[in-house]
Amino acid sequence: MTFSIHGLAVARGIAIGRAVLAVSSRMEVVHYFIEPGQVEAEILRARRGRDAVAEELQRLQADMPHDAPPELAALLDVHLMLLQDEMLVNGVKHWITDRLYNAEWALTTQLEIISRQFDEMEDDYLRERKADLEQVVERILRHMRGVASPVAPPPSAPRRQAEAGAEAEFLLGGAADAPLVLVAHDLSPADMLQFKQSVFAGFVTDVGGKTSHTAIVARSMDIPAVVGARSASQLVRQDDWVIIDGDAGVVIVDPTPIILAEYGFRQRQITLERERLMRLRHTPAVTLDAQAIELLANIEQPGDAGAALRAGAAGVGLFRSEFLFMGRSGRLPDEEEQYRAYREAVEGMQGLPVTIRTVDVGADKPLDKGYKDSSLNPALGLRAIRWSLADPAMFRTQLRAVLRAAAHGPVRLLFPMLAHVSEIRQTLAQVDLARAELDARSAAYGAVQLGAMIEVPAAALMVRQFLRYFDFLSIGTNDLIQYALAIDRADEAVAHLYDPLHPAVLRLVADVIAEGARQGKSVSVCGEMAGDVAMTRLLLGLGLRSFSMQPAQILAVKQEVLRADARKLGEWAQQLLDADDPAASLQAP
Ligand code: PEP
Ligand code: MG
Repeated sequence: MTFSIHGLAVARGIAIGRAVLAVSSRMEVVHYFIEPGQVEAEILRARRGRDAVAEELQRLQADMPHDAPPELAALLDVHLMLLQDEMLVNGVKHWITDRLYNAEWALTTQLEIISRQFDEMEDDYLRERKADLEQVVERILRHMRGVASPVAPPPSAPRRQAEAGAEAEFLLGGAADAPLVLVAHDLSPADMLQFKQSVFAGFVTDVGGKTSHTAIVARSMDIPAVVGARSASQLVRQDDWVIIDGDAGVVIVDPTPIILAEYGFRQRQITLERERLMRLRHTPAVTLDAQAIELLANIEQPGDAGAALRAGAAGVGLFRSEFLFMGRSGRLPDEEEQYRAYREAVEGMQGLPVTIRTVDVGADKPLDKGYKDSSLNPALGLRAIRWSLADPAMFRTQLRAVLRAAAHGPVRLLFPMLAHVSEIRQTLAQVDLARAELDARSAAYGAVQLGAMIEVPAAALMVRQFLRYFDFLSIGTNDLIQYALAIDRADEAVAHLYDPLHPAVLRLVADVIAEGARQGKSVSVCGEMAGDVAMTRLLLGLGLRSFSMQPAQILAVKQEVLRADARKLGEWAQQLLDADDPAASLQAP
């Protein structure tokens, strides 16, 4: 029966495909398709993983001391039994044979199906066996990690990359080759990054806000996504057909042929619109009254430079370097590794400027999945520059790496979340020290411009002081809104209050832009507001001349720029600043 689930629209477009339900995010597995000729080998690999665990459990049983509690022996029995469970064994075979999933993916898919059945059991004891099953599967996965797949996961675009542009007719016809969409309770930003190379055509998560980092990464992947869909991961079943409408924030489960045809049509329209926008790629971003506008890209990884160039970006306005630090089980990248990554981004941009932001972990960007931030309120805790300044040696490792990369092209160094002049001074002192350390070992490095993120209201209110110390500013509206309105940006329960058009937010943004213009220093916006076409004219009217956004948004924003008369928009924007309800006047003039 068809039903729909409402969430928040975070990454545009329509995806139609079969649901893949992600299991516990503790089990990190790669998803790729194998060739039909590799089915036997893949089944064998899964069986070997299982056999190895069986041996391990039997050994544990044999070595068990006589005085060991009897529950322990019983537990091992249960695990051994679960290991041989027909449903698990046959299910894994099915996903490998019929769907050509790699063994790890087959295993976690089947685990999810069985887990759901456990959840529905009346009997408490049986229900609790779900945890045992998870442990068993985790053990198998651990063993399989040591056994290389005969089928290497594809390096980039996988075979049969699930296409967002699936046709309704195709869906109604056969299912074996259908695109896949991932449905999960939650995905960390690091999870999302892992999925960047994967087979999924769309994402749905139960939790998350529009500017949560998970949503931001989804947007950077340029595939439809809906977050904050509450209980989607409970309501959708493995293999259900789903439509993700990333524009409306709606997920339609088990759609009828008529609904599929309608969405198939909309998919084609979107594709045509994108092709039309591609023609603007080489058109200079200039308003009707001849104001040149800088359209920059936000990137998460050095390899994203290609997407930035393809979208016609004038440079990188925000390289979120923290993604190099995530999912590494606490082992942070050393100077050499960071240098190579920054250099790759700089060289990838072929002479265009690259703004590298120093690491901004914390709050909804944990270093590692499963890592529990013990601070009472992580968004107000030791994150971003506070984290860097708390460990100056680590901070300088990053600064040295960035300075060295600057020898290969224009680099701008950006610091997140500054709020105090004392922090500014400490930060700049660390930059001087990093240069001195490079001098001491005669290492080559380049000149960098220094900039501050304006993302704490205190920073916006003291913009004059900030401009004394920095060459440029970048307004991080995602956090600025969060902190000005006291709304957790990742919490879907208060997402309706997260308002970029709140008069207080507009006032802060307007004042920073105006002060930068007065002092002749560059001010950019690099929060999600910059990539929202509904905001382009307003920001132009407020005097903004530099926008940084996900590459996928650049051409749509450019279209708005080309149609705008910045001078006329100036007067209108000033009126809007004084309005009680700016959102109501956003459409004019
Ligand atoms: C912001 O806060 O607007 C920003 C660009 O930084 P991030 O989204 O990474 O916190
Ligand atoms: Mg921020």
